[in-house]
Amino acid sequence: EALDKLIDLKGSIRVFCRVRPLIQTSNLKTKSPVTVGQEKIAVQSVGIKKEFILDRVFDQESTQEDVFLEVKPILKSALDGHNVCILAYGQTGTGKTYTMEGTDGKLGIVPRAIQELFSHASADSSSTYSFSISMLEVYLGSLRDLLAPRQTLFRHTECSTASNISILATKSGSVEVEGLTDVSVPDLKKANQWYCRGRRARSTSWTNVNDVSSRLTRITIRKHGVTEEVSKLWLIDLGGSERLLKTGASGLTMDEGKAINLSLSALGDVIAALRRKRSHVPYRNSKLTQILSDSLGDGSKVLMVVHISPSEEDVSETVCSLSFAERAR
Ligand code: ADP
Ligand code: MG
Repeated sequence: EALDKLIDLKGSIRVFCRVRPLIQTSNLKTKSPVTVGQEKIAVQSVGIKKEFILDRVFDQESTQEDVFLEVKPILKSALDGHNVCILAYGQTGTGKTYTMEGTDGKLGIVPRAIQELFSHASADSSSTYSFSISMLEVYLGSLRDLLAPRQTLFRHTECSTASNISILATKSGSVEVEGLTDVSVPDLKKANQWYCRGRRARSTSWTNVNDVSSRLTRITIRKHGVTEEVSKLWLIDLGGSERLLKTGASGLTMDEGKAINLSLSALGDVIAALRRKRSHVPYRNSKLTQILSDSLGDGSKVLMVVHISPSEEDVSETVCSLSFAERAR
């Protein structure tokens, strides 16, 4: 009990950083401006060295196993009844999707977490668990159900009509996403099938290099014992954090740029308020923070993995991302 309190004091929000390996380009000239320690990262930018302290830093050589090892304890919290949020933040192209989804041979956090939940459930003889999965996308401030029965409805051209999902705050303080498909998954195989289906249904960056939507996977965990305990595990691949409006990226509408920036800054504000134990937490400022409002605050656990590029040309975005990370911490 006392130990639990101590751990709680240490904070229920943890912030990691992962550095993407350098992708070989034609100009192999420069040295990376990023230097990495265990809990520290330094960035050399316009002649000034800036240092950032985080809970854990994963360097370019880190593997999916390395990352998952640090994620595992927080999954245990989800199985113990806490709401949990794991979020991947960073500029487009820095490895958010690699970390969350992974590739065929190098599975990311989501498929590993799903596997872990089922193996924990079968090893625990004192309780029974059941799991269900939902997937949605937040795009231009609207919500799209990625596991809805008719996927064809959710092509981009039709996205404005696709949302009949609404967010409801219940009396007990929990949040319901009404109208969102939630599929019971009896075993690992079924869970993976639905997860793959949701991945296919989401929109990819179809016109440009910026990723303007956030993808959320929610696993609802029901632990059946003397009483029933319900908790949510959110696994989130956020939209790209690059400052779209400032750079005037081509092919993007103003609305797209504004929407993603707005939801990421709303998220930053919420986490900063929680971190500082403010009495007012501004959940209402975006759809993303509204959906997550019962999974970011009291009693819940949050892990943010901030992704950065090792390249010289991305250094100003890198400094922005690390500043965001430090503010959350
Ligand atoms: P994001 O989702 O942030 O836009 P991606 O996950 O799509 O970025 O990563 C961009 C590219 O870099 C992809 O081809 C991905 O496979 C590769 N990549 C990213 N991080 C790593 C890593 N840690 N190790 C190996 N390849 C990576
Ligand atoms: Mg991505």
